[in-house]
Amino acid sequence: MHLVSVRLLAAIAFVAGSLGGAPAIAQGEVNVYSARQEALIRPQLDAFTRTTGIRVNLVTASEDAIIERMRAEGRNSPADVMLTVDVARLIRATDAGLFRPIKSPVLEQAIPSQYRDEGGRWYGLGLRARVIYYNPDKVNPAELSTYEALADAKWRGRVCIRSSNNTYNQSLLASLIAHKGAAAAEQWARGIVANMARPPTGGDRDQITGVASGECDIGVANTYYYVLMQSGTDAEKAAAAKVKAFFPQQSGGGTHVNISGGGVATNAPNPDNAQKLLEFLASAEAQKIYAEVVFEYPVRPGVAVAPALLAIGPLNPDKLKLSRLAAHQAETIRIFDRVGWK
Ligand code: FE
Repeated sequence: MHLVSVRLLAAIAFVAGSLGGAPAIAQGEVNVYSARQEALIRPQLDAFTRTTGIRVNLVTASEDAIIERMRAEGRNSPADVMLTVDVARLIRATDAGLFRPIKSPVLEQAIPSQYRDEGGRWYGLGLRARVIYYNPDKVNPAELSTYEALADAKWRGRVCIRSSNNTYNQSLLASLIAHKGAAAAEQWARGIVANMARPPTGGDRDQITGVASGECDIGVANTYYYVLMQSGTDAEKAAAAKVKAFFPQQSGGGTHVNISGGGVATNAPNPDNAQKLLEFLASAEAQKIYAEVVFEYPVRPGVAVAPALLAIGPLNPDKLKLSRLAAHQAETIRIFDRVGWK
């Protein structure tokens, strides 16, 4: 933005602030701390600025670095909004006291209740499913059904799945605890460890690549990785072409889904703009960008799923309220430790 217009905005903000008794500065901006890659979130933020005139200052860092920074900054933190992926991380930030509750009829209407915190501290903005990938030369999809079935001895030495220190598997295990109880979830985790084709290595894409290379017959990874690989590097395209996606428990309770999302910072200096930003990110316009740029499923009902994502299979999401996973975070870590899931 040009210096002159920044000054003008500041002057307007000063007048508005003086009249309303609010802080005089920074009426026209919002500070975002984001654990998402800038390329994935910039288009939505730019659309927000175009629509509202509110400038977005974006800081991108790892989730841990952001939490550390917000804690260190304390009451002086300039962060208004924190964006991240995975409900486990949103819960972690909530437990660290970094989010303030906000009450917004707009958000409550736009986002189904299973994808947001009952206390209004975090809101899901995009949806991803954690699904099974298989090598069609070695696996008949009729052999696939549920996550639980992957623990069956028939898959011994055939499964690629990433490390337990990643929240994606922590949330998957937490959902199994919520549905089946801790004992059954632990038995499942033990079975998966026994069935691993290799010690856990790499990220989600590497599990898909492992299936393509023949190192394993089954992989587990989030949906957007597979779709991104289909239009990625030549090697990724070739790998994706050798692998098929299978959506588990479509009939038995629904496929495990997780969210990307965010909340308004406890010490936000611009809380009104922060709320406006979340409301915008939940709007049909921004949800369409989420779908097309990030290949997430829109959380907002009625917004079209990207054709490339729709093409890999219809999603029947698990109806579990994601806030219920909060109670099982510590237990997932203990189970992974006990069963030796690296
Ligand atoms: Fe991811």
